[in-house]
Amino acid sequence: MAIDFKKYIASIKDFPNEGIIFRDITPILQNGTAYRAATHELAEFAKSKGAEVIVGPEARGFIVGCPVANELGIGFVPARKPHKLPRAVKKASYDLEYGSNSLEMHIDAIKPGQKVVICDDLMATAGTLHATVKLVKELGGEVVGAAFYVELVDLKGVEKFSDIDIYSLVKYH
Ligand code: 5GP
Repeated sequence: MAIDFKKYIASIKDFPNEGIIFRDITPILQNGTAYRAATHELAEFAKSKGAEVIVGPEARGFIVGCPVANELGIGFVPARKPHKLPRAVKKASYDLEYGSNSLEMHIDAIKPGQKVVICDDLMATAGTLHATVKLVKELGGEVVGAAFYVELVDLKGVEKFSDIDIYSLVKYH
């Protein structure tokens, strides 16, 4: 039976700042059936795109992306916050719905031409996705898709990526 994932997402008003409704996906993770089903849905999407590696931005992208990679038997590459990775990196900066940040990837993390699906918990303004796409491309990879648990539709993130297929389990307006 199909799972209604919205039942496993808590909406928190005024977190972390006033005026923001934070969509908390941790109830999905707490429920083994929901977490496995969410992972499976994203894995089916990634498989349909021919993914050869999953990339996930820190930190919730790890929680979402690692089990997807594991289900498909392919690798996972983290895009990390600055100064966490020990070897030579490429860096990209981005604006968040609230604040700004940077992400880094090891320069040898992606093989030339490798097909990448990016996984994260939520797409808001798509700044995080934009930075991750930029890094993957600079490392020689091909981004064939991006998959999320949640998409905040009114922020129009999808419109910024005419060439990338974007999948989400749940959409909020
Ligand atoms: P964007 O860069 O698309 O504006 O923001 C998405 C990033 O910020 C994701 O990495 C996500 O983890 C985090 N984020 C922003 N808003 C929310 C939210 O309401 N809920 C959750 N779970 N994450 C959020």
